[in-house]
Amino acid sequence: MATGAGALHPHNLELLGKEGAEALKELRILIVGVGGLGSFAALELAYLGAGRLMLVDNDRVSPSNLNRQVLYGASDVGKSKVLVAAKKLRQINPALEVEAFDARLTKANGAYLVERADVVFDCTDNFESKRLLNLLCYKKRKPLISGAVGGWEGWVATFPFHKEDESVPCLECLFPGDLETLREISEISGPTLVTTVAAVANFQVTELLKLLTQKGETLEGKTLIVDTKNYQCVPVRLTKNPSCSVCS
Ligand SMILES: [Zn+2]
Repeated sequence: MATGAGALHPHNLELLGKEGAEALKELRILIVGVGGLGSFAALELAYLGAGRLMLVDNDRVSPSNLNRQVLYGASDVGKSKVLVAAKKLRQINPALEVEAFDARLTKANGAYLVERADVVFDCTDNFESKRLLNLLCYKKRKPLISGAVGGWEGWVATFPFHKEDESVPCLECLFPGDLETLREISEISGPTLVTTVAAVANFQVTELLKLLTQKGETLEGKTLIVDTKNYQCVPVRLTKNPSCSVCS
């Protein structure tokens, strides 16, 4: 039997507990966007012993990605990100099942993918995709762990839609308004450092571990503002928008 990083690694077993490690192995995890955040999140999940990943992205590797998208190197330029990522992740953890979808997220394929997933990682870099994922996860009652980065800063938020708790806000509550305004106020544009990407993706994956093990505090109903320049990580409680078009 092939060995490698995995759920049965003794350190993972010890820290996640048998139940947590087994649960992680059984989960089908959807990662939308395999750029900076998605690369890191997938890599960590492979080392932690996740059992099943679904990767969605229609991008090719470009030279501009190579400062922060850790699953790719110079020899991958021009290749499909999800195919390169799947190959590398299987090398790291041969027990990991990886499904690669070389496609842009749409309403139709998104509904199918979210339906099949147990948990969804939003590692996208645009609000159109974030809004669509929020809507789909809310409708299908799947937990959504969302992240965004720009420069030295970023944020992470967890939306526990699986709990069907209508008092918890959604991503749309957090960023109401038209897309142009969102683009202006958002921090998810411009060049980003690999260190920022690592910090934010790491918190996204940590959120999943805490949801599984019930250890410590989670970011349910909160967003964590991450400022790596000043070493500040501030959790901010989110407010539900009573006129939210998705959850109210
Ligand atoms: Zn909402």
